[in-house]
Amino acid sequence: MPFSLYFHIPFCIHRCAYCDFNTYSGRQALIPAYVDALCREIETVAKNFPGTEVHTLFFGGGTPSLLAPRQFDRIFAALSAGFKILPRAEISLEANPGTVTLDSLRSLRALGFNRLSFGVQSFHPDELRQLERIHDPFDVFEAVTWARRAGFDNLNLDLIYGLPEQSLDRWSATLRWALSLAPEHLSLYALTIERGTPFGRWAARGLLPLPDPDLAAEMYERAGQVLEANGYVQYEISNWARPGFECRHNLQYWRNLPYLGFGAGAHGCFGGLRVANVLRVETYLRRLQSAASSPSSAVRRPFSPACAGYHRLTRRAEMQETMFLGLRLTREGVSARGFADRFGVEMTDVFGIEIAELLGLGLLEWANIQTSEVGQTSEVLRLTQRARLLGNQVFMYFVE
Ligand code: SF4
Repeated sequence: MPFSLYFHIPFCIHRCAYCDFNTYSGRQALIPAYVDALCREIETVAKNFPGTEVHTLFFGGGTPSLLAPRQFDRIFAALSAGFKILPRAEISLEANPGTVTLDSLRSLRALGFNRLSFGVQSFHPDELRQLERIHDPFDVFEAVTWARRAGFDNLNLDLIYGLPEQSLDRWSATLRWALSLAPEHLSLYALTIERGTPFGRWAARGLLPLPDPDLAAEMYERAGQVLEANGYVQYEISNWARPGFECRHNLQYWRNLPYLGFGAGAHGCFGGLRVANVLRVETYLRRLQSAASSPSSAVRRPFSPACAGYHRLTRRAEMQETMFLGLRLTREGVSARGFADRFGVEMTDVFGIEIAELLGLGLLEWANIQTSEVGQTSEVLRLTQRARLLGNQVFMYFVE
């Protein structure tokens, strides 16, 4: 089974008011050292995975588009030396529309990137200002035009709904603008107010009108109808794509298949282990620098000199994860045969009580879906249409 690789680039020009990702603003001076460290981590980790085939690479953040093409060039050189990147690998970059130019996109395309994910969030200037994004709608139109001109034929746009005081009409307008750009993929996320963010503090003091959950649910349903009418297929709770443009990297996570994470705070999962890197950029740099000066210290740390900790999953935990991750996939769900082949036991023998209860509540359904072009079908367990808004309640049944 080929692996997927994730690279975390924790730098942003400005920290958005709602963001609780592991990212830092005003630290761009650390980027060259970070690229050095990333290359070193790739070299070190690759030694533990000789000959491993890789079919997706994803640079997320943060704002990976802050890196210069020559810095990606160095990272790709380290990757090609350490892993076997398959010829049709999906290579994605998260990009902030305010940070790209036609030239930078041409260089990125020439380096091998074949999928861009733009953090658009809204097409209303006042909503973007409220979120403290650095771009405006014009930047988005320009970035998408440039991306097409640079040869990208696989674009994702991220949008956020349920903003404070956002109306259904304004959300519908954002959707219409997004569709006018004909992206191959759309990711729609409900705004969540996280503690420790400016939004969280303002909400705690009553200064931010909290999003109305009923209205947010209506926005989600409206989006599903509009996107379906425009030829997009929902394949995950928050993701829609034109057929054939589903994000293969994220499918790897939801199918509970192996991946490695590089960079500050990145996670990996393989061979029954979950591993996590140190969160802070400075600690990450220190770990990789001391690994370079004393290679034997790197060996003492499992998998990566930046590893903060790991735990071995029990077989039951792996089965649970396979269920609650797979149930996010609204069409393909969890295959009965796939589960039995992987674990040597039927899912109904392990989770019979949970499944029966959720079927009774009308939150899960059995379906036969086509799994190959020659018409083979597979029996799958998946969320019902109405459960798509209640996913977390369903997933709780598979968490102890
Ligand atoms: S650009 Fe993205 S990662 Fe950076 S602060 Fe804004 S939301 Fe967070």
